[in-house]
Amino acid sequence: MKWFLYREYDSKLEIDSYILSSCPNPKCENKRIELDKRNMSEDYFFYCENCGEKIYLTDVFRLHEVIDDEFGAGGILAYVTNILEHLLLIHYIRTILKIKPSLMKETLFIKDGPLAFFSVTANMHKPMRDLSNYLLGKYDLNLVGVEKSGPFVEHAAQIKKNMKPGTLLIMSNNYIYKYIIPGRADPNNPYARTSYYGGKLIFKSRDEGLYVVTVPVADEFVVIDPKKENFKNIDSILQNLELLKCDMYDNSLFPVALANKLVSLSAHPSSMILEKFAKSFIKS
Ligand SMILES: [Zn+2]
Repeated sequence: MKWFLYREYDSKLEIDSYILSSCPNPKCENKRIELDKRNMSEDYFFYCENCGEKIYLTDVFRLHEVIDDEFGAGGILAYVTNILEHLLLIHYIRTILKIKPSLMKETLFIKDGPLAFFSVTANMHKPMRDLSNYLLGKYDLNLVGVEKSGPFVEHAAQIKKNMKPGTLLIMSNNYIYKYIIPGRADPNNPYARTSYYGGKLIFKSRDEGLYVVTVPVADEFVVIDPKKENFKNIDSILQNLELLKCDMYDNSLFPVALANKLVSLSAHPSSMILEKFAKSFIKS
């Protein structure tokens, strides 16, 4: 997380401090707090200058802003999942760069869902774009987000019969606002500029599989009028998606289907076991 947030992978991109919008501790009104790396403890926390309480590095996700006094913490689950999936991805990238950077060009990373961070966590798309640009420039990055639901997937299903097998549709800002998302296209404000670090495509494989994917692009204004060459390694990424097709579910991919199978828990008894396990670690 520290490596990622402060861009420690590249001396030209590296920063010393990060501005956190508000103190996570209740009753503290401190805003725009500078999290200077040099003041961080070995256990990755800081002290708030106003209230004196701890601020953890993970508070940059701002999850404290969406925990509701009455409805509890349930609302943060989707954000936590997306953050963990990204951190796992970042961890693998960091490990590969440490051990054998040449593996980067041989590896395809598949992310379940779009390449984006939403709501309070949206700021994380900036360090993520920096990391992906750095990798695209210096090593290689084969990263694709595959989404299974939402308006883009519904749109893809509607136009499927009009797409030839083995073709892709690159969606421009005008296309997105004309056919998929309500509202008016604004050239100064491309689709999802404050949350995505990639551009969206619809791909119909030669065996009639249909995929809505995000692939990293250099900056948000590519989305205004994207060209195929803006999506580096796009041919090999799509070719591999086609090869990884899994017939267990509609338009599913082998690694994703296998991972989901392994992590699925039945409500009973697995979740009970997990609950007991968690409670044994939490002191009352
Ligand atoms: Zn504070």
